[in-house]
Amino acid sequence: MTATDQQKIELIMGLRSRGIRDTRVLEAIETVPREVFVPDTFQDLAYADQALPIECGQTLSQPFIVAFMTEKLKVGERMKVLEIGTGSGYQTVILAQLCRRIYTIERYRTLLKSAERRFAELRQANITTLLGDGNKGWPKQAPFERIIVTAAAPQLPRQLIEQLAVGGILVVPVEVSPGRQEILRITRTEEDFTRESLMPVRFVPLVEGIARGM
Ligand code: SAH
Repeated sequence: MTATDQQKIELIMGLRSRGIRDTRVLEAIETVPREVFVPDTFQDLAYADQALPIECGQTLSQPFIVAFMTEKLKVGERMKVLEIGTGSGYQTVILAQLCRRIYTIERYRTLLKSAERRFAELRQANITTLLGDGNKGWPKQAPFERIIVTAAAPQLPRQLIEQLAVGGILVVPVEVSPGRQEILRITRTEEDFTRESLMPVRFVPLVEGIARGM
């Protein structure tokens, strides 16, 4: 067994002990090579359960948070999923193992280009990318059965809720009061939506508009 295999086993055991139970999610974390998404200087931490810095002052989410949000999203094999905040592309590739097609939006061209290179390298054929403002969602491709946001929204993102199919689920970190973020799960109903609070978190903010010059 290589050192990487050993670190992977420890990571999976840690996730299980913190309550992640969905075997499809755990398998995806085991299969996807996280080192591909991690900057050179942090390679030795690729399987540590911690967030890591990436380009453009953004962060690659902690494996536990990726596993937790993915589990709560309850993704099915036939589903069409929208992700806001591609970042490194790690969460995107995890979701790509679990659904039919994933649409992902990033506001930094630099990050999107690097993520697209990784998707090609991993021969991931069910990912469609867009340089854009995720606040607006992807109206042309709506409705989505699942939507995940990996940056903290200043309030409930109404435009994204509108792009959910009836019965669809949105998992999103929201700044519920100044300096306090929580992961919320929104389920779209016929008439309206329901809202559950899942966990306090710290994410980089969801920002308006496409980033200029990067
Ligand atoms: N899932 C990514 C998380 C990256 S951090 C990973 O694990 O690598 C959050 C990302 O959301 C950043 O890349 C940031 O640029 C992006 N982001 C913030 N606001 C956005 C917006 N309005 N539209 C699209 N992407 C946005």
